[in-house]
Amino acid sequence: MHKDFIYLDNAATSWPKPDAVGDAMSDFLRTKAGNPGRGGHYLARQASEVVEAAREKLSKLINAPDTKRVVLTQGCTDSLNLAIHGVVRAAMKCCCPESKIHVVTTAIEHNAVLRTLFCFAGDGLLDLDIVPCDEHGIMEPHAIADACNDRTVLVAVSHASNVLGTIQPIKEIAEAIRACCPDVLFMVDAAQTAGHFEIDVQRDDIDLITIAGHKGLRGPTGTGALYVGPRAFPDSCTNTRLFCERRGGTGSTAPGLEMPKDLPDALEAGTANAVGFAGLIAAMDTLNEATHEHEMTLTKQILDGLVKIQGVRVYGKPTIEGRMPVVLFNIEGYCARDAGALFDKDHHIAVRGGLHCAPELHNAIGTYLDGGVRVSPGSATTAQQIERFIDAVRIIASS
Ligand code: PMP
Repeated sequence: MHKDFIYLDNAATSWPKPDAVGDAMSDFLRTKAGNPGRGGHYLARQASEVVEAAREKLSKLINAPDTKRVVLTQGCTDSLNLAIHGVVRAAMKCCCPESKIHVVTTAIEHNAVLRTLFCFAGDGLLDLDIVPCDEHGIMEPHAIADACNDRTVLVAVSHASNVLGTIQPIKEIAEAIRACCPDVLFMVDAAQTAGHFEIDVQRDDIDLITIAGHKGLRGPTGTGALYVGPRAFPDSCTNTRLFCERRGGTGSTAPGLEMPKDLPDALEAGTANAVGFAGLIAAMDTLNEATHEHEMTLTKQILDGLVKIQGVRVYGKPTIEGRMPVVLFNIEGYCARDAGALFDKDHHIAVRGGLHCAPELHNAIGTYLDGGVRVSPGSATTAQQIERFIDAVRIIASS
C-alpha cells in the first residue's frame, strides 16, 4: 500500500476496521471456534455464546422487542433476499391465482432490492410499483402510501441512498402506509444507516429491517442481520407471512424433516459465521456518537470544497442536513469510472467511480449510464486527507 494511501470508500465497506475486530476474530479462532449450537461440549458452547451475544447486541441496536427476532445473516443482500423471497413466497401461497400480489418500492433502492423483486416481477408473479424520488433522492411518504392497494403485501424502502447519501423520512413513511394499509409489511434497508443513526423498529413501526455488519457497524464482511417483527412472524409461529425456503440443520432439537417453527431457527439454517460475529461484537463496542459527528464534519468539508471547483457537479442535497457521509459528484470532461481510476492511480485515493448498483436513482438524477464518483469518509479519515482529496479533484478538473 502506498504510504499516502487514503481510503474514501466507506459506503462500500468501512476501513480500517478497529484493531479490536481482528483481535477478537483471532482470539475466537484460537480459543472458541467450535460449531455454534452443535454439540454441548466446551468449544461449541463458547462459539454459541459469541453468536448469541451478537444477536443480543444487534437486537439492542434496533430496539427489537425480542432478541429471537434478530436473524443472523451473511450481509445485507442475504437479509434482503431472505425477506423478499420469504414474504413473496408466503403471500403467493395464500393469494388466489387470478389476483396477483403487489409490491411497492422506490427509485432509490439498491440492486439487492430491485433485482430480487424483478426476478418475481419479470416472471409475471407479482406487480411491482417503483415510486419516483425528487432530484435529491428523497421520497414523499404519501406518494409511497398512494402506490399501495388492497393487493400490496410489502413496501420496501431504503433508509438512506447509497448513491446520494440522502436519508428518508422512515417514520413518516410508516405512518402514511399504516393510515391506508394497516397490515402491509414495511421493510427498511438499513445497509447504509446501521451504526450511524439510532434505529428503533418499535417506535417507527418497521416489520422487517436489513443490516450489513461491514459498513457503519465497522465489522467484518460476511456478517449481517434481518429483524423480523410480529406482523411478519407472530409469536404463535402460526400464519407467518415469511416463508423460508432455506432448509438445513439448526442445532436445536428438531426431530423430523421439517424446520423448527420458532425464530430465529426457522430462518437460520447451517453453521453461522461465528468468527465474523466475534469481530462484529468487538466493532460495535467501539461505536460512539462522536464518530458520526466527525464523519459529518468531513462531509461538510467535502461539499464546501467541491462546490468551489469549476467543472465539478455535486448531486443530491447541497448541505449535510438529512445526509449520510456520502457525496456523489462528476468532473466535466471525465467519465466517472475514468475519474475514479485517476484518483487511484495518480493520487492513491480510493473512491468509487461509475454506477453504484442503483440504476433507477441514476436515471432520476440524470447520471445513467455513466454514474458518478462517490466519496465516503469514515471514522479514521482526517481533515488533512480531505484537503488532499480536494486538491486531487482540483488537479484532475484543471487538466
Ligand atoms: N442496500 C444498500 C443500500 C447498500 O448500500 C448495500 C451495499 N452497497 C446493500 C444493500 C448490500 O449490502 P451487502 O454488501 O452487505 O450485501
